[in-house]
Amino acid sequence: MTTYKRNPLEVVRAEGVRLYDPNGRDVIDFLAGVAVCAVGHSHPRYVAALTEQLQRVVHVSNLVYNAPSAKLAERLCTLSGMDRVFFTNSGAEANEAAIKLARKRGTSIAAGKTQIVSALASFHGRTIATVTAGGQPKYSEPFGPLPGGFVHVAFNDCDALSAAVNEHTAAIFLEPIQGEGGINVADDAYLAHARALADANNALLILDEVQTGVGRTGTLWGWENSGYKPDVMTLAKGLGGGFPIGACLACGDAARVFVPGDHGSTYAGNPMATTAALAVLDIIGTEGLLSNARIVGALLQERIAHLATEFPEWIGASRGRGLMLGVNVPNGQAREIVGAALSNGLLMNATSEHTLRMVPPLVLTESDVCDAMDRLRAALQQLSGTSISAIRGAVSSKIYVEPGFLAGRDLLGIDDFSAKECHQILALAKRVKAGEISNTATGKVGALLFEKPSLRTKVSFLGALAKLGASGMYLGKDEVGLGKRESVEDVGRVLTRMVDVLIVRTFDPVILKGLAESCTIPVINALDDAEHPCQAFADFLTMQEHLGDISGKTLTYIGDGNNVAASLMLLAPKLGVHFRIACPDGYLPEPGIWARASELAAEHGTKMERFSVPSEAAAGADAIYTDVWTSMGQEEELARRMAAFAGYTVTAEIMQHAAPGAIALHCLPAHRGDEISDEVMEGPWSRVFAQAENRLHAQQAILAAVL
Ligand code: PLP
Repeated sequence: MTTYKRNPLEVVRAEGVRLYDPNGRDVIDFLAGVAVCAVGHSHPRYVAALTEQLQRVVHVSNLVYNAPSAKLAERLCTLSGMDRVFFTNSGAEANEAAIKLARKRGTSIAAGKTQIVSALASFHGRTIATVTAGGQPKYSEPFGPLPGGFVHVAFNDCDALSAAVNEHTAAIFLEPIQGEGGINVADDAYLAHARALADANNALLILDEVQTGVGRTGTLWGWENSGYKPDVMTLAKGLGGGFPIGACLACGDAARVFVPGDHGSTYAGNPMATTAALAVLDIIGTEGLLSNARIVGALLQERIAHLATEFPEWIGASRGRGLMLGVNVPNGQAREIVGAALSNGLLMNATSEHTLRMVPPLVLTESDVCDAMDRLRAALQQLSGTSISAIRGAVSSKIYVEPGFLAGRDLLGIDDFSAKECHQILALAKRVKAGEISNTATGKVGALLFEKPSLRTKVSFLGALAKLGASGMYLGKDEVGLGKRESVEDVGRVLTRMVDVLIVRTFDPVILKGLAESCTIPVINALDDAEHPCQAFADFLTMQEHLGDISGKTLTYIGDGNNVAASLMLLAPKLGVHFRIACPDGYLPEPGIWARASELAAEHGTKMERFSVPSEAAAGADAIYTDVWTSMGQEEELARRMAAFAGYTVTAEIMQHAAPGAIALHCLPAHRGDEISDEVMEGPWSRVFAQAENRLHAQQAILAAVL
């Protein structure tokens, strides 16, 4: 009946946080079926639970018992501290139940104690009573005559609430965060006041948790953020994870208002719906989705703040909790943003011309956030008239590569790959991380020939080989006797006949080169004294994820100009990133590397700068990077190095000089208190562990490319 204006998207399949159209194009889902698909799409445990239930029994009615509904009632009461539950099929029906319950209770206390006090701009559903309770006349006015007994007050206004609540009040009816009204968060003091007023007037506090409930705000129930427990709580949306179900829960005397015959529903509480809700609660609990919503939600707000500095007319402040966010749109063109975002592969909605709403599934990951914000940035660039093709980063994010595109190639140093190939490696790493590249090297074998200790490099290469379906073997320092028991050339010639890729960690670049020359298989440098190229790819992947388009951004390296610094300064220009280094005299990377990096910078139009004062190098930088002052093999120089690097610690004070939203990186292992302070390692800037994880994805991409 044309009640919806639909977006130009047909969804034929969905998985996790991604929707797919009939052509296989993916769209990141920041709408989640209007804050419904809490555990994402096609979650295997959800699918399995419903499939099994479908084969047992679908519907029986409330005239007989079914176990899933009993289990769900018990689980919900345990988790919320409520006493009883009435199941419904939707949020509006849960609210209808709450209104009926409050009125029956009120009338039993005193005739005329039937008023429901709710807030302006609230939304409680589309039935005739719930549109009346809702504080948005556009939803109720055309449908009069409306039921009486509903009073509206300004939201978050304690005085207005005090003036409206009296002995005729049956219930105060509020959302902890107004959803459809534009993500307006109730102040803790306001909820405290509502709780106290309800108690003082023997009225109920009903909290409509249809949108905020079931983990959306980073706690199971929205009211947990303030701690003011309602007498009645309504749920729907996230509860079924996509299967229609609602619930009205009550405690205390409110739980005993309804008696048989008072209320009912044919479908409500049926075994399919309650099985779906049990699966959702299980998944949220066992997969840590509450803390995920808080952590990923904070990152999302951070990334929105970044966009706000880039596009101040279009993007303003964000608000909300967990993964229920509203974004202010200063120029009032929120609907235009929604349209442009969708054409760039991001689905969200606008609650008004001035507010974007983001309510993605709670399984959203940090890399999904980065991907989504890249798409939003592309949309904003289009809207604000920037030519997309002029922006290198945007072009690079559209690079599509297949495994094997560098088959047979070596990676001894960054300069083995062209700028385009470096962009392609990062694009492949993103596909790897999204789970799209696995088992592309089934049956192949990789050998790790390591003369130095390793945690990240060893585990990431062995893990990456396994994920590609290949197997890996580790050959430690004493096993081969490289160049001692057997010549480098002979080792290379033997291994090349037995394995498909050789991953080498040695001191001397000459040994590495010798191996590469005697092998016909790809040889990968897993760190030598000159470079650590695999690390650098993981680092720029991390920057792309956390800073979005990195072209034109500045990376500042503070500390020893070691092999990691060398690879970073060679890779930065190829990716359009400006590079700065702050180090004491005598600690720059060797002159050949510095000269080559400067040449690359000139070629790619980026800056290469050297500073001796760390705070000056940090000024306005987007990423601050450091590494140990004394690398493997330099231990005898420890005292001299400690003295030389005094004052080069990356501290919170140094981070204050960087650009807003700047990130701190360290390739680990770290000497906290020397090159980096604890405060930075653990502080809001730190992406150190995301960076460590990216070793795995970057290494898998490199292997997938060369194998
Ligand atoms: N209450 C709130 C807070 C809502 O956000 C909604 C839906 O958007 C409803 C009630 C109505 O839920 P339903 O559409 O399932 O009836």
